[in-house]
Amino acid sequence: MKEFNIAVIPGDGIGMEVIPEGIKVLDTVAEMQGIRLNYTHFDWSCETYHRTGRMMPEGGLEQLQAFDAIFLGAVGFPGVPDHISLWGLLLPIRRAFDQYVNLRPVRLFEGLQSPLAGKKEGDIDFYVVRENVEGEYSNIGGIQYEGTDDEIVSQQSIFTRKGTDRILRYAFELAQSRDKKHLSSATKSNGLFHSMPYWDSRVEAMAQQYPEVKVDQYHIDIFTANLVRMPEHYDVIVGSNLFGDILSDLGPACTGTIAIAPSANINPDHRFPSMFEPVHGSAPDIAGQNIANPIGTVWAAAMMMQHLGCDDMHDTIMQGIEDVIRNGDSLTRDMGGTASTQALGDALVKAIAAAH
Ligand code: ATP
Ligand code: MG
Repeated sequence: MKEFNIAVIPGDGIGMEVIPEGIKVLDTVAEMQGIRLNYTHFDWSCETYHRTGRMMPEGGLEQLQAFDAIFLGAVGFPGVPDHISLWGLLLPIRRAFDQYVNLRPVRLFEGLQSPLAGKKEGDIDFYVVRENVEGEYSNIGGIQYEGTDDEIVSQQSIFTRKGTDRILRYAFELAQSRDKKHLSSATKSNGLFHSMPYWDSRVEAMAQQYPEVKVDQYHIDIFTANLVRMPEHYDVIVGSNLFGDILSDLGPACTGTIAIAPSANINPDHRFPSMFEPVHGSAPDIAGQNIANPIGTVWAAAMMMQHLGCDDMHDTIMQGIEDVIRNGDSLTRDMGGTASTQALGDALVKAIAAAH
């Protein structure tokens, strides 16, 4: 029997409401397919920060390292500055475990209404591959002459050859494996004169090794415009930490709701645990009301099982999501329905059970 140990961090706000639905669906499918999942819950959150002054305890990373994967809800809440919730938990995990790929699939499901006129199922179906540990989010920089009229703030970007090539290789491999075999790279070489031309040159170098992959390179400004104008053009999108971040919110927004979007922080060589979470945050405005959409979390759970080599579990969960959205009876408010978080989770379980 396949067996996996999963670290679960529900986190803050709706993270605590959507994670149980993810586990409910995981358990249903695992039992059907004879897979054993052992969960260990960690209550690390902004609440922990208020109590202890830390988002996670000392030695937290060492505790996580022993797990096969990390399943995360959302962290961050009003009252705790973003840099504390981010640098106290999320970013250290991504960096310590070398989760250098942030993979975010974007799909328009049958039954959802895209805000883009005339788009239907199949028109939007692409991946955003975001560099996840270096680039613009380097935390190098600072302020000089603070408090004077001469204040100067700088923020450095770091692009290493290794870091650039490995994310590009991941994106090229993904493009190669897909029907369209189309890779689009987002940069801004006419504004950022050092880092972006370098990225472009590495794209061109790697393209030589993937002659079947059609490669496009765009500046981020026209890229975002094109994504809205003709999302059907895209297949695999690769971008630096900053541009990948922006595109991976824009993408799901084109599919009707960001709440269905998953995010996989992957260490592709499996040396460390990877982390799976919804794209959305803790949504304080709707927390505690049992109305959050759990689909982003459930889809993240499906990606987690795929990463762990259980493709059948992934496919079964995805089928359940497709069925429930197409059926339309149990959708949450953000998708135009009235169902509660739990009712949607129950509907997923029911759909999966009915299909098998
Ligand atoms: P973060 O900085 O943590 O990403 P954010 O400021 O981007 O947070 P989110 O928490 O993602 O904000 O929420 C953005 C908006 O989307 C809010 O209005 C929120 O209610 C809504 N939202 C987010 N997630 C969900 C969900 N799962 N179901 C329904 N609505 C959601
Ligand atoms: Mg956000």
